Amino acid sequence: MKPVIAVIGRPNVGKSTLFNRLIRQGKAIVIDEPGATRDRNYSDCKWLDSTFTLIDTGGFEPSSTTGILTQMREQTMLAIEEAEAIIFMMDSREGLAPADQDIVKILRATQKKVFYVVNKIDGPRHEALLTEFYRLGIEPLYPISAQHGIGVDELMNDVILSIPQ
Ligand code: GDP
Ligand code: MG
Repeated sequence: MKPVIAVIGRPNVGKSTLFNRLIRQGKAIVIDEPGATRDRNYSDCKWLDSTFTLIDTGGFEPSSTTGILTQMREQTMLAIEEAEAIIFMMDSREGLAPADQDIVKILRATQKKVFYVVNKIDGPRHEALLTEFYRLGIEPLYPISAQHGIGVDELMNDVILSIPQ
């Protein structure tokens, strides 16, 4: 059994973009509309010398805020159950959302290794967007651009160090 790494977060934060970058094939659906990835997407993945199973979560119906929250909680509980490490992704362009804070509360209670990522930091002029995420009191935060591949090496190097080989 390979170790499992799950990518979770609100719709549209860039989970599938990171997933695709890591598996290097266009398997997960990336689309501008929230809720585009209906099912969980699994792929074997290799980073440096580590192999693991990567899960891209999705399946959020964008119909209502409560619906999204409920499904996010479900995905989070599932990830906590089955993954060795969890990548929790937030969106710098949207800012710190109430749903993010809700999920952080759940994640803080787990023994599993959690990596807190702020996506869409595409360049130095976006770095100021990080500031409000420090309100969570979480260190480290990983600023990345899943789209442009910035910060992904730093994140994944730490992720693979945290999983059993
Ligand atoms: P998901 O719903 O969390 O899986 O999000 P997607 O991966 O489908 O991405 C949602 C939208 O955000 C798409 O339009 C992506 O192109 C865009 N996106 C993803 N990563 C980045 C990033 O690093 N920078 C910017 N500017 N946009 C991104
Ligand atoms: Mg997706």
